[in-house]
Amino acid sequence: MCSILGYKGNNDAASILVEGLRLMEYRGYDSVGIAMLDDNKFTIRKGVGKVQEVNERFDLDKMVGKIGIGHTRWATHGGVTDKNAHPHPTCRQEIAVVHNGIISNYRELRQKLTERGHTFRSDTDSEVIAHLLEEGYVKGDDIKSILFRTCDDLEGSYAFVAAFHDGTIAAARWEEPLIIGIADNEYFISSDVLGFLKHTDKAVFLDNGDTAILSGDNELEIFDSAGNPISRPVTRVSWELGLADKGIHAHYTLKEINEQTATLFRAADVSNDSLRKFCEIISNAKNVYMTGSGSSYHAALEAKHFFSKLARVRADVIISSEFSYESDAIQPGSVLIAISQSGESADVLHSVKKAKESGCTILSIVNVSTSSLARASEMYLELGCGPEIGVAATKSFTSQVALLYTIASILGGRENELVVKRGVLQEAVAKVLSKCDLVADFARSIAKFNDIYLLGRALHYPIALEGALKLKELAYVHAEGLAAGELKHGPLALIDSNAIVIVLNPRDGTYVDTLSSLHEIKSRGATVIGISNVRDDTYDYWIELPEAESNIYPLLEAIPLQMLSYYLALQNKVNPDYPRNLAKSVTVR
Ligand code: GLU
Repeated sequence: MCSILGYKGNNDAASILVEGLRLMEYRGYDSVGIAMLDDNKFTIRKGVGKVQEVNERFDLDKMVGKIGIGHTRWATHGGVTDKNAHPHPTCRQEIAVVHNGIISNYRELRQKLTERGHTFRSDTDSEVIAHLLEEGYVKGDDIKSILFRTCDDLEGSYAFVAAFHDGTIAAARWEEPLIIGIADNEYFISSDVLGFLKHTDKAVFLDNGDTAILSGDNELEIFDSAGNPISRPVTRVSWELGLADKGIHAHYTLKEINEQTATLFRAADVSNDSLRKFCEIISNAKNVYMTGSGSSYHAALEAKHFFSKLARVRADVIISSEFSYESDAIQPGSVLIAISQSGESADVLHSVKKAKESGCTILSIVNVSTSSLARASEMYLELGCGPEIGVAATKSFTSQVALLYTIASILGGRENELVVKRGVLQEAVAKVLSKCDLVADFARSIAKFNDIYLLGRALHYPIALEGALKLKELAYVHAEGLAAGELKHGPLALIDSNAIVIVLNPRDGTYVDTLSSLHEIKSRGATVIGISNVRDDTYDYWIELPEAESNIYPLLEAIPLQMLSYYLALQNKVNPDYPRNLAKSVTVR
């Protein structure tokens, strides 16, 4: 999980690479590096830190050359150190390589290459790619055969770009994204269109197994996995994607939380023909499965309730990282609804592969229509909530939930009710967002607590899980989401006066039962925060929510939890947009 960017053209590459890497930093950001080719010689500068920090340290954007490759790393193998940052040069410094992914057989390869005289300078798995390429290059073999031999030796996942000292750039992808941007006499090879969108909207999405060679005189050739030259379509990507901007807000995360009144229902337009077709495929399926990771998994858990309550459709939800271990009983003719904001999550893509092998139709819900997941699906729906830059999902989560709610309503023949409910909900969301200052105050009062438990039943349980995830990701607070009824089966042992318990407790069918759990907590001395449309004496703090239709209520509950996590992050001196150790799209398994 990282970003790769290669450039070859008539302009100075360094500033283009630094800017492109900065825009893709959401993908991983523990170290940064650039290799620049000038006069057939490489200069490599790299180190630990964010793009801006490393740039200040090494003047990356002042490096000279019209051909270069850059990388932001999210370490998987080898510590977060300067020497492990990419690019990695070969022994003779004639090739430099950047890699995204994991080379699972790197130990054997490294040993063989070392025996054959190669010297390794890093502890990464990635460096083997450089030395494998070097083996053929020193013999004078042609780049295509060098590239194919190298890919044949690699196991695991990769997108890599290699710059050769004669000015050739070569790239290959296997289970990691790689996109070529094409402008006038300029080429970009990038993990995400954001890397080059300022310069061109013309993109070629490489397929899994593709390789590409950009020769010294700017001839671009693409080959499929069998080595046949192939022409992939040039797609025009939306310029809007490049417009991500914090506006008046201190952080992207805050901006994205505040956008939710507008973004919630963009995807959930009932007049949309694709949405109806999508629902028709679900209605005709033998069984319905859903999968996702992190927040998208929580959206799927929420949708399970919607499908059951509104449409009497049973859906099995399988978390993506476990999907391949649970897929034995999936029968042909079933549907898998795969959910991913970026559409690049490796676990979700792997689930899709497994489900296809079992004869499933793949329907997906994505925010990026050009993503690998959208392209691997029979049909996809787009969230349309605009670029989400903050690493923790906020607006994309509520858009997923709103869209899944709409799908369940259509499946249950209840779409006529939607228009009225949507108006009420939108107003309610605006009211919740106006409580920002109040939530910031709560965050100050509870900043000293290290353990937070979130309780909810039924529809509110997935929101308890999602809230706990936000608190962990953004504020680095230990938080657990619990089905309220499970408290007495174990977790109650953890509750004492050092704990904070947040309870999702609207007046609906779960209210009375959840109140009983609350009394059990109160008598153990914990501090209780109630998120509810009704006040109760057991609450030490009350975040009042407006009235809304009970099935859609979870959407309202998610928002104060996002805000609380954001303000706790500020209390804990964490940059909420870039929490440590995390990357927005997890493209490794
Ligand atoms: N596995 C490589 C490393 O640890 C690449 C990780 C990445 O995708 O950033 O350096």
